Amino acid sequence: MSVRELIILGTAAQVPTRERNHNGYFLRWDAEGILFDPGEGTQRQMTFAEVPASAITHLALTHFHGDHCLGLPGVIQRLSLDKTSHPVHAYFPASGECFFNAMSHASMFQNVVQIESQPIREPGILFQNEAFTISTAKLDHRVDCWGYRIEEPESRSICMDQLQKYNLQGPKIGELKRLGQITLDDGQIIRVEDVSIRRPGQSFAFVMDTRPCENALMLAQNVDIFITEATYLDAETDQAHEYMHMTARQAAILAKESGAKKLILSHFSRRYSNVSEHLQQAREVFPNTFAAHDLDHFELPRRIRFS
Ligand SMILES: [Zn+2]
Repeated sequence: MSVRELIILGTAAQVPTRERNHNGYFLRWDAEGILFDPGEGTQRQMTFAEVPASAITHLALTHFHGDHCLGLPGVIQRLSLDKTSHPVHAYFPASGECFFNAMSHASMFQNVVQIESQPIREPGILFQNEAFTISTAKLDHRVDCWGYRIEEPESRSICMDQLQKYNLQGPKIGELKRLGQITLDDGQIIRVEDVSIRRPGQSFAFVMDTRPCENALMLAQNVDIFITEATYLDAETDQAHEYMHMTARQAAILAKESGAKKLILSHFSRRYSNVSEHLQQAREVFPNTFAAHDLDHFELPRRIRFS
């Protein structure tokens, strides 16, 4: 059975707290798994969340501030320890390649995992297969910082009543799917579009550490889940601007303007012992907002099936 869910491994900005680990987010997408921004302690959080290292097929870093990457040495060594047999694709800003390389070889270990590094130098598509496309765009932070969008290709769902209408059964259906069209005995041509409907792919956006910006809006366009930072509250709007972060309200405005379906807030400053105000201020703008806690799971909404 296919499983698509976002698992929150950590939600703390800058420093971990008693309740919040440094950042860390695992997106399970059927057989693929993307680990975003592994901060300190990510390896242990994965154990709590029951995510084995071997589930990681992609590593995606927004930037090289410690709260977004200091878990990398442990995760990379764990991939080797567990003898992960598949290659792991790694995306990160090219300007931080020296940090990525240093953390990949931070201490002695038997290195058997194949890391396929893809330093980001320009926006666009980083990876594409039948499961999804991973694309990136630059954000607006104090250091080089890039957001990600994951998008499944659109497909079509066959409608049973349409098949019955044309009396299509068994091998004929297979032929229609394979060839895209079929000719009936009476000469009538049936195209796959005649017996199916569009089935939009699922999508997801990951945006951390940025001021509100056009690229964040673009990455989040119509996504099922948009997870982003909400470091501050309304009262610190000036501070958010100065440090190139966002308030919860600004995150909600992005979600609303982008047409995202669900907003998840994370990356909270340690000054807040609870985040009910973040939630309240965001929900005034975008009601379908949730505040992430460590080890939360968020399922991608099921797509409607027609056959
Ligand atoms: Zn941060």
